[in-house]
Amino acid sequence: MQFDVREPELASDAIAVSLPQFRVAGASDSTKRSQGHVATQAQLPAAPAHIRAGGRMMDSHGRTILDLRISITDRCNFRCVYCMEPDVQFQPRENVLTPGEIIRMARVAQSLGVRKIRLTGGEPTLHPQLTEIISGIRAATDVEIAMISNGSLLTREKLSAWKRAGLDRMTISIDSVRADRFARVTRSTVTPEDVMAGIEMCVAEGLTPLKLNAVLVRGQNDDEAVELARLARRFGVEMRFIEYMPLDSARAWDRSLMVTAQETREAIEDVFALTPTNMDDAHSTARTFRFTDGAPGLIGFIAPVSNPFCGACSRLRLTADGNVRPCLFSTTEWSVMKLLRGGASDAELANFLIDVTWTKLAGHNIASQQFVQPARPMSAVGG
Ligand code: SAM
Ligand code: SF4
Repeated sequence: MQFDVREPELASDAIAVSLPQFRVAGASDSTKRSQGHVATQAQLPAAPAHIRAGGRMMDSHGRTILDLRISITDRCNFRCVYCMEPDVQFQPRENVLTPGEIIRMARVAQSLGVRKIRLTGGEPTLHPQLTEIISGIRAATDVEIAMISNGSLLTREKLSAWKRAGLDRMTISIDSVRADRFARVTRSTVTPEDVMAGIEMCVAEGLTPLKLNAVLVRGQNDDEAVELARLARRFGVEMRFIEYMPLDSARAWDRSLMVTAQETREAIEDVFALTPTNMDDAHSTARTFRFTDGAPGLIGFIAPVSNPFCGACSRLRLTADGNVRPCLFSTTEWSVMKLLRGGASDAELANFLIDVTWTKLAGHNIASQQFVQPARPMSAVGG
């Protein structure tokens, strides 16, 4: 099947991808599925007065939001098997936040204490006004601006323009260094060499510290931990392994398909001894290790399933269609669109963010029988 993600205004950037029909072998629909619930401001209980007056986004479990992830588009030119099915439905363009709305939300979030904004998606580099979004956030705030990309559409010119606009650093996802595997996992015609060229360009542009992300799926690429770890040594960057989470649009997630951080660490340590850096930020999702032999680069393990880090969570998410999600795994998200498009003041937007944060649950409970998979996949939520 030939599939083209191009929209008229994206034609020069996007690539056509061929998408063989594919499902994760052995998958079973073992998780309960939420229908999802988008709630509006009218249904949102107000946070206590002293919390609102504090001017910070604090939840009822004592955590403070410092990190906002903004999905600027739900579209993508890949269809990674653990994320997005070929027939995924995208939001109509009019439902998606405009650059002005994104920049305004960034400004209000910074006024409430946010220190870092990560642009994500879908694939953020597909957005035709990406440079404008970065420069607008830079002009309106002094937060660290990071972006995560699948690395398939990078050029020196674009990276240089984003850097000049105010982008501080990049994270690139790469799940395999083998062409056939990469094609099967991403269901694209992009090669690992294309992505590695992008990694080199990010380093050359100084979009550092650069991080690389990989999701290992059993039976797909779970034998590549060591090869991927070598990328850290080769490029002098942090290679992070993220446990496969039940956020795939196929609902194919099954615990047996997840490769735990511990397994991945053991596979790498069969070849390279690792030493904990003991330098991880309290809010960091990753536990990082350096190579004991002194080689450059770091290895990071992100274990949301086998070792949840909810207690230190400092993140809030804004979806491409203008919903605020207190957690990746929230089954309720709160629409800010009506406020944004209905003439709300910055103070009203700030109170909305404070109130949504107050609803943040203590944890995601993936391990429990009661766990309900959110209706929307990672690509819609903003990973
Ligand atoms: N398209 C960009 C990319 O792939 O880097 C940005 C968006 S993507 C949703 C952000 C990150 O989420 C990627 O590193 C991807 O590997 C990760 N991701 C997507 N689905 C996931 C899942 N079910 N479990 C764990 N990580 C996932
Ligand atoms: Fe696209 Fe990123 Fe999801 Fe892969 S993980 S389908 S690149 S949004």
